[in-house]
Amino acid sequence: MKLIPIITEHWKIDGGVAFGVIPRSLWSRYINADENNLIPMVNRCLLIQTENRLVLIESGFGKKRDDRYYQFKYISKQIGLEQAIQQAGFDCRQITDVIFTHLHDDHCGGAVNRLENGSYEVVCRNAKHWVSKAQWDSAMQPNKREAAAYYNDNVYAIYEAGLMRFVEKEEEIVPGISVLIRNGHTAGQMLPLIDDGIRKWLYSSDFIPSLSHVSPVWVASVDIEPILALNEKEVFLESAVQQNISLIFEHDLENEACQILKNLKGFEGLACEIKNTI
Ligand SMILES: [Zn+2]
Repeated sequence: MKLIPIITEHWKIDGGVAFGVIPRSLWSRYINADENNLIPMVNRCLLIQTENRLVLIESGFGKKRDDRYYQFKYISKQIGLEQAIQQAGFDCRQITDVIFTHLHDDHCGGAVNRLENGSYEVVCRNAKHWVSKAQWDSAMQPNKREAAAYYNDNVYAIYEAGLMRFVEKEEEIVPGISVLIRNGHTAGQMLPLIDDGIRKWLYSSDFIPSLSHVSPVWVASVDIEPILALNEKEVFLESAVQQNISLIFEHDLENEACQILKNLKGFEGLACEIKNTI
């Protein structure tokens, strides 16, 4: 099994959105904000090559909205999904499975293109696309707080093409990749747990989006249930220490992964690189 991180966009987000109740005087020790209180981020998708599958986790923003929309995402560099896959040495038609952790725009927007004639095209047209049923239901009828992050045209063409697969419970969906389901950030966020035969990795998406978010109380203000998110994180981190599960970060510009340690102060993330077993 080979894990290949690919970056589709560099962008920025308000530091207060990223760190919730944690004041800037604390989080700015770990990450530099610009004069507008914006912090740099990436959309780091993950390709997983196994003997007979090529799995993609997430797809970045895509390019379907108008300039004004992306202006407020402060995108400084957009590689785009198809090109990022090409740069890794593959073609999007080779992808067998796409896993969406959830359907917020920065996670699934790149999976469907809008063509000049107004029609839609599934980028990974030969792939099964996996999402939790709870998240799909939430995205189709969003609450007002999350509505601005969901767009039907990001995923509907996949559903119409018969390529969407719904996950109802925590299970192995591809050999070597099972999913955990957590609800603090959004309903039914699905987190791939990858066992490469040597070690385990959790692709931690918006559950633990960066190294700075390893501390359980460092919860983003966009999480729909922050106390639940905190508790879910504490329980998971304990098991990550016991089972030696490392994290792969979707949004951390500087750190692609970390190991979890527990010391007298609590949980700590030790930055590392994604090392492959083959
Ligand atoms: Zn999200």
